[in-house]
Amino acid sequence: MEEIIKLIDKYKVGKILIDEPLKKYNTYKIGGIAKCIVFPKNEEKLKILLKLIKENNIKYKVLGKGSNVIFSSKPFEGIIIKLDEFDKLILEDTVVTVGAGYSLMKLALEMTKKGLSGLEFATGIPGSVGGSIYMNAGAYNSDMGYIVSEIKAIDPNLNIVTLYNAELDFHYRTSFLQTHKDYICIEAKLVLKHGDKKEMMEIVEDRKRRRLMTQPLEYPSAGSVFRNPTNIPAGKLIEDAGLKGKTIGGAMVSKKHANFIINYDKATSEDIYNLVNYIKDEIKKQTGVELKQEQEYVNWE
Ligand SMILES: Cc1cc2nc3c(=O)[nH]c(=O)nc-3n(C[C@H](O)[C@H](O)[C@H](O)COP(=O)(O)OP(=O)(O)OC[C@H]3O[C@@H](n4cnc5c(N)ncnc54)[C@H](O)[C@@H]3O)c2cc1C
Repeated sequence: MEEIIKLIDKYKVGKILIDEPLKKYNTYKIGGIAKCIVFPKNEEKLKILLKLIKENNIKYKVLGKGSNVIFSSKPFEGIIIKLDEFDKLILEDTVVTVGAGYSLMKLALEMTKKGLSGLEFATGIPGSVGGSIYMNAGAYNSDMGYIVSEIKAIDPNLNIVTLYNAELDFHYRTSFLQTHKDYICIEAKLVLKHGDKKEMMEIVEDRKRRRLMTQPLEYPSAGSVFRNPTNIPAGKLIEDAGLKGKTIGGAMVSKKHANFIINYDKATSEDIYNLVNYIKDEIKKQTGVELKQEQEYVNWE
C-alpha cells in the first residue's frame, strides 16, 4: 500500500488522507480506520487512480455521503474514493448537468428555489448525486429514475461511457450501478420542468415538517434500514412486532420511526449489525416475512 500511496501522490491525483477514522464519513458515525482516502481532482486523475488500484489488485470503495452504508469496525485495508471534487453544476433551461459528488439535498433546494420542479422529493435525502443514482433514492412516489436522463460513468475498462435512462434499470431502491459495482458514476444529466416556485416551496416546507415529526433526525442513522415488502411498510411490521425502542449496546430501534436504527449512545458497528439481525429474526418468527436490507454492509467480509 505504501508504494501505491507514493504513486498516487506522485501523479497528483488529489488530496490523500491516511489512517482516517471512517466515522467522519458516514451518517451512522461508526466504523474503523480507512488506510487511505483519496479525493481525485477530476476524471483523468480518477482514471489514473483506478488504473493503479486495478494493476495492484487493491481493494477500493467509492463513497458518497455515507448515508446508506454500515461500515464494520475493522480497518479498511484499501482505498476509499471520495468524489467531492466532482461538484460541477451547469443549468441549461430545465436540464441540469451535475457532478456525482454534489449534495442531492443542496441540489434539490437550489432547483426548487429556481422554480424547477422534479427534485422536491429529494430535499430531505442526505446523499450525493452518485450515491442516490446507485440507490435510486426516492420518496413520496418519486425517485431518481423519473428525472435522470443519462449519466457519465467510468466502466471496468476505464472508458468513459454514457448510460441512458433505459439502460440504468431503475427500480425500487435499485439501479444498474447496484448490479454493476465496477461502474463509477461521475456525472448525471437531470431533466426538470418549470413549476410554480411558491407551490413547490410549500410542498418542501410541508415535507420538512413531516420528516422532523416522523424521523429521528436528532440522532445519527442511515435512514430506512429495510426495503418495504410489497404490501406493508417495513416500519409497520417492526412497530407491530413491538420492537420500537429495542436496544443492543448503543444502537436502538427508533421510537419515532421503527424502520430507523439510531446510534443513540456511541453504538459500535457490531451493535448495529446485531440489531439489524435481531429485527430480521423477530419479524421472520412473528410474521414469516423476510425483510431485505436497504442499507449496505461495507468491509464485513
Ligand atoms: C436521515 C436520513 C433520511 C433518508 N431518507 C431517505 C429517503 O427518503 N429516501 C431514500 O431513498 N433514501 C433515504 N436515505 C438514505 C440515503 O440518504 C440514500 O440512499 C442516498 O441516496 C445515499 O447516497 P450516498 O451518497 O450517501 O451513498 P453512500 O452511502 O455513500 O453509498 C451508497 C452506495 O452507493 C455507491 N456509490 C456512491 N457514489 C457512487 C458513484 N458515484 N458511483 C457508483 N457508486 C456510488 C457506494 O459505493 C455504495 O455502495 C436517508 C438517509 C438518512 C440518513
